[in-house]
Amino acid sequence: MHECIFCKIIAGTSPAHIILRTPDVIVIKDINPKAPIHYLVIPTKHIADLRDLSSQDATMAGNLLLTCTQVSNELLQGTPFRLVVNNGAAAGQVVFHAHIHLLAGTQMNNFF
Ligand code: 5GP
Ligand code: ZN
Repeated sequence: MHECIFCKIIAGTSPAHIILRTPDVIVIKDINPKAPIHYLVIPTKHIADLRDLSSQDATMAGNLLLTCTQVSNELLQGTPFRLVVNNGAAAGQVVFHAHIHLLAGTQMNNFF
């Protein structure tokens, strides 16, 4: 058991607003939302960031993206959304358990 906030949420020992859950993915509301809709799409397996993915994680990695599609289509009426993944502290990552930010519900500016 990792001493990791997302692992604790996945284990049920820390609280979170859970949007949906499958065997390999959990979706929660971000505690400090940066958009009207700000979910975190998190693999239930602890990996620090996407640099640690291997070919053995192919199904899980695909399911992470398919879960974003499911959230969009089934819960957000297909509204436009942005996905962001920070990999490493210099990229802005602060929780070192891989996760996709799913942001929606506002007009977003161009990224670059
Ligand atoms: P990062 O910068 O690592 O990509 O993003 C981490 C995100 O996790 C941040 O947006 C932050 O608000 C969110 N976060 C950190 N701790 C918690 C928590 O305990 N619960 C929830 N729901 N979100 C958290
Ligand atoms: Zn973890």
